[in-house]
Amino acid sequence: MKLTFLGTGAADWDINAYVPGAFHRRFSSALINDDLLIDPGPHIFHFCEQNGTPDLLDGVRNIIVTHSHGDHFTPETVARLCVGKDCTVWADPACKRKLIRVLGEEIAEKINFVETRRNRDYEIGGYKVTSLRSNHATEDPDEDTRLYLIEENGRILYYGCDSSWIPTVSWNVIREKPVNAMVLELTCGETATYDWRIFEHNTPEMLEIMLTMFRKYNLFAPDVKYYVSHLARTLHTDHEGLVKYLEPMNVTPAYDGLTIEI
Ligand SMILES: [Zn+2]
Ligand SMILES: [Zn+2]
Repeated sequence: MKLTFLGTGAADWDINAYVPGAFHRRFSSALINDDLLIDPGPHIFHFCEQNGTPDLLDGVRNIIVTHSHGDHFTPETVARLCVGKDCTVWADPACKRKLIRVLGEEIAEKINFVETRRNRDYEIGGYKVTSLRSNHATEDPDEDTRLYLIEENGRILYYGCDSSWIPTVSWNVIREKPVNAMVLELTCGETATYDWRIFEHNTPEMLEIMLTMFRKYNLFAPDVKYYVSHLARTLHTDHEGLVKYLEPMNVTPAYDGLTIEI
């Protein structure tokens, strides 16, 4: 299974400040192989164009969504990928409500949408996708924000952007799995330890506690690798600084365009 990071930033990155050649993060999104998209945010087509791969998303057949925040879920992006195309959205009913609110009922009805629930497994285009609750919240009080386990050919990916820690009910599922790659969120960086966002996002000391515990109990697969994404522009040093900072924890910070083989 291959994962390409299409965006690795939190919501404080400004696409208008993008300068070709200069380091930049788009809003967080990831592509599994060439057909499963996690989070249809506003910047994914910008990635494709600037990366010299304008057709990158042509093969996307299914979309899963972590939550309906604007940096992860853009109705216009969904319409472009799904209207008149063989592409299905699997997400919390809150995302359907947002599609109708923004696009209007007529266009929203043209989008194949499967409402998913937390703590369920779904067979999605050859992947086993486990939909789990994240510790995060949106303006929609009825929305269950999500973490995902994605399995293909016995290889397992955990994707957890956005979430502060991992809720108990989700952890009880994840801890039993031989996960091969964990993508944890690290919205708050070196310059934002003990940040006020700790109830919705992770900080470095939280990351360190989780990693120390994972390793203490030899959790997940023997070859498990750790990555962080959803990195805030204003709460981190630069990417090189982050690489150095995370080196002792043996964690790789993602960047836009990074492709990993799981
Ligand atoms: Zn976010
Ligand atoms: Zn969010």
